[in-house]
Amino acid sequence: MHLKDLDVSRLPRNTKETVWLEVAQRADGGHWQLPFLYVTGSTVGPILLVLAAVHGDEYEGVEAIPRIFRRLTPDDLCGTLLMVPICNVPAYGTATRNSTIDGKNLARVFPGDAHGTITEQIACFLTEKLLKSADFLIDLHSGGIAARIPTLIGYIRSDDERGKRTLAGAEAFGTAVMWGHPLPVPPGRSLTVATDLGIPALYTEAPGGGFSRTEDVRCFTTGVLNVMKHLNMLEGKPQLQPVTHHLLGDGNLDNVITTPVAGYFRAEVDLLEYVNVGQQLGTICNAFGDVLAEITTEQAGVIIMLRRIHRVHPGNGLIHVTQRLE
Ligand SMILES: [Zn+2]
Repeated sequence: MHLKDLDVSRLPRNTKETVWLEVAQRADGGHWQLPFLYVTGSTVGPILLVLAAVHGDEYEGVEAIPRIFRRLTPDDLCGTLLMVPICNVPAYGTATRNSTIDGKNLARVFPGDAHGTITEQIACFLTEKLLKSADFLIDLHSGGIAARIPTLIGYIRSDDERGKRTLAGAEAFGTAVMWGHPLPVPPGRSLTVATDLGIPALYTEAPGGGFSRTEDVRCFTTGVLNVMKHLNMLEGKPQLQPVTHHLLGDGNLDNVITTPVAGYFRAEVDLLEYVNVGQQLGTICNAFGDVLAEITTEQAGVIIMLRRIHRVHPGNGLIHVTQRLE
C-alpha cells in the first residue's frame, strides 16, 4: 500500500498494516519512500513511535522492527504502534551514516525543513507526521561502521514528570547498561524534538560494525515489547536483566577525544573499562610503527565509545569517556 498523506489520528482501529510513505520528490521524477509498519489495537491508548536507521549503516533496528511487528496482533494491543525501520533511506542505499546526496546527518537536522534538502525533508516528515502524534519515542541506533558502543539504552534525565516517565521507560527496556543524559539535549536529534514536545524519549546503542549481532536484534526486539508492556499497551511484565552499569554524561558523541595527527589508531582499553586521569588509552602510529601520538584522558570514567576504523585523519573522534551515576 502507498500513502501520499499520512494522518495518524485517522488510522483505522484494529489493524496491522505495512505501507510505503511518500516523503520527497526524487530527481528522476519518482519519490523517496519510507517503509512504515503500524498496528492499532481495538482500544485507544498510548501511541509509541519506533524509528531505526536514522543513520544508514546501523542495522539492528532494521531487523528488530519487522520481528516486533510479526509478534503482535491488533487484538492484543491497547493503543497504537508506529514503526519506521529505515528512516534515512538515501543513506541506507549507500550503507553510509549520512546521506551522500546532501552530505547531511539526519540525527543533526531535526526538526527538519519541508523546503530543505532531502535529509531535512525526511526529518520534517518524521517530526510533523509521526513524532508530533506520539506519546513515547524509541530511536534505535548503534555504533554503525565507524564506532563501537556497548549495547545500552540511553535516556534524557530530568526531575520533572517527563523525566520520571522516561527513566521508568528506560528501566523497562531492560538492558545491562543504561546511560542518562542531563538536559539540555544537543540540537538536531529526534530526542531533541521529542523532549521539546514533552514526549519521553529513549534511544539505543550497540556495537554495530556494518552488521547486526543476533543478541542485539533480540535485545532491541524484547526492549520495545518490554516498553509496550510497561505502557500497558500489551499484557504482561517486562523481562528485565540486572543493570551492570548505570552511566551519566552528555552523550554528545560529536564531542569526544580526537587525534591530533593522521596515522594508525590502536586502542589499549576496552568498552566499559574504568580509566583514570592521565591514563594512556591508545596510540597513533605511522606506517613504520613509530608512535606519533599517545592518546590520554583528562577525565576518569568509563569507556563508552571506541573508534573502530584504524586509519585516522587529524580531528577524527577516537574515544569517549563518561561518568558512573553515583
Ligand atoms: Zn546512529
